[in-house]
Amino acid sequence: MTIERIVILGGGTAGWMAAAALSRIRDGRNVDIKLVESEEIGTVGVGEATIPPFVEFQRALEIDEREMMAATQATFKLGIQFSNWGQVGESYLHPFGNYGYELGGINFHQVWHTMRQRGDRRPLQAFNLETMAAYFGKFSRTEDYNRDDLPPMNYAYHIDATAYARFLRKYAEMRGVVRKEGKVQDVALDPESGDVTGFTLHSGETIEGDLFIDCTGFRGVLIEQALGTGYEDWTHYLPCDRAVALPCNRDDGSPPPPFTKATAHSAGWQWQVPLQHRNGNGHVYCSQYMEADEAHDILVRNMAGKPTADPNFLRFVTGRRKKFWNRNVVALGLASGFMEPLESTSIHLINTGVNKLIAILSLEGITEAQRSTYNRLATKEYERIRDFLILHYKATRRDDSEFWNYCRTMAVPDTLTEKIEVFKSNGQIFREEDELFTTTSWAAVMMGQGISMGGTSPMAEGVANGVAKEMDEMEKSIRWLVDRMPGHGQYVSRYCPAPAAA
Ligand SMILES: Cc1cc2nc3c(=O)[nH]c(=O)nc-3n(C[C@H](O)[C@H](O)[C@H](O)COP(=O)(O)OP(=O)(O)OC[C@H]3O[C@@H](n4cnc5c(N)ncnc54)[C@H](O)[C@@H]3O)c2cc1C
Repeated sequence: MTIERIVILGGGTAGWMAAAALSRIRDGRNVDIKLVESEEIGTVGVGEATIPPFVEFQRALEIDEREMMAATQATFKLGIQFSNWGQVGESYLHPFGNYGYELGGINFHQVWHTMRQRGDRRPLQAFNLETMAAYFGKFSRTEDYNRDDLPPMNYAYHIDATAYARFLRKYAEMRGVVRKEGKVQDVALDPESGDVTGFTLHSGETIEGDLFIDCTGFRGVLIEQALGTGYEDWTHYLPCDRAVALPCNRDDGSPPPPFTKATAHSAGWQWQVPLQHRNGNGHVYCSQYMEADEAHDILVRNMAGKPTADPNFLRFVTGRRKKFWNRNVVALGLASGFMEPLESTSIHLINTGVNKLIAILSLEGITEAQRSTYNRLATKEYERIRDFLILHYKATRRDDSEFWNYCRTMAVPDTLTEKIEVFKSNGQIFREEDELFTTTSWAAVMMGQGISMGGTSPMAEGVANGVAKEMDEMEKSIRWLVDRMPGHGQYVSRYCPAPAAA
């Protein structure tokens, strides 16, 4: 069956990202693209921290960065600060960008480790631009200094999720996507193929299509309720299953820090996402060890300002849909799975999902090979991210609550155990296939959580003999650059002030 009508069901971040990206295929062929959403149901309303590939998503859509940032009250993000994870009182930053650069074909952190054993006391963080800028509250884009001898600045954004969906809606509608308001009542399946043929709204209107993108959030109206695809539950690895979200103002007038904060508590952790006009906050926790009231109290006690809305209580089950693409339905966003927001990977998975779909799509029809390729690649991507998230919980020395005792002693996937063991032996990290997280990401979290490189790499020992001068220069140039950068708040208010703050 040829694809002439694409129907996106759901208008949260996933729905509008899909609509915006898919609207561009209309440049080549005049496909009918509709998006149906229900204001009565609303969106999840959280999801404000992103990672660097999201910057690429804007560029691919030729979205003006300043315009988007102003419209979404956005700030820049250079990484995530994790506090109280390895042990109460400890803190580390997982930065975007690399520690140093490869020296003699060896990971920088392995050479640094050898140098440290030989008495060099400089912290690894001194060799990462994003960490240094974050710690000093500074920011610049690479384009501002544009020098080949200095490292590039890798960044992402903190955005107001609702405003971002609004921004993309405008973009998609201008490119021919038609929005319909309505709530799905019944879904129709083809009696022979089992494909979705359309659905009826409460108003009685029928929407038909050839390809459906399910962006209905946790409900999974098409992928689960209609097709019964099934869900792989990862709660035993990622046990947090509740969150309470609550924005607050920044009363003290302090500038927004250029990083997200993730602070662990006794049965979960709290996020702080600084926007231009407010902070987004939330407490992700495990209902087996904590009640909602307590989670809410802990959140309010640890917020930087007064709440600006009512608390939003959310429930979820960590895991993934057994098939991301089933029959003629592709699930994106929360309809496809959720691994909790610890490393801000959900919006990223929408981005890669829609990129994969556009790359593999042929309007001549859907083939089994397309579906299975998409599902295989998405499964790998989910599993690699899953392992990285589990690492934060597993690699802890905390023994001050039942929750942390569970996490510290839980069984984890063999793939993760192997990665930790190899790191312990000489610091080696292999980035597998197209996995999202870099060698620096793995090294930052492993070391930040207290896993040490026991031995050294013989290759690194050789390289370390002649790198002292190069390392001095690297450290100095980062310091030099950070010293000259403006404060992050100052940069944002000049570069992309939101209308109210302009
Ligand atoms: C606690 C928490 C914190 C998060 N933090 C981050 C983060 O920092 N970074 C990040 O990348 N991601 C984060 N996420 C994930 C992020 O919020 C989601 O990936 C993103 O918002 C996409 O949501 P969605 O569009 O899939 O679903 P939703 O926002 O739930 O949208 C669903 C849409 O489907 C529509 N719909 C549902 N049922 C029907 C129906 N029957 N008929 C018609 N329409 C229907 C709704 O009206 C709505 O428009 C977080 C998620 C949670 C739960």
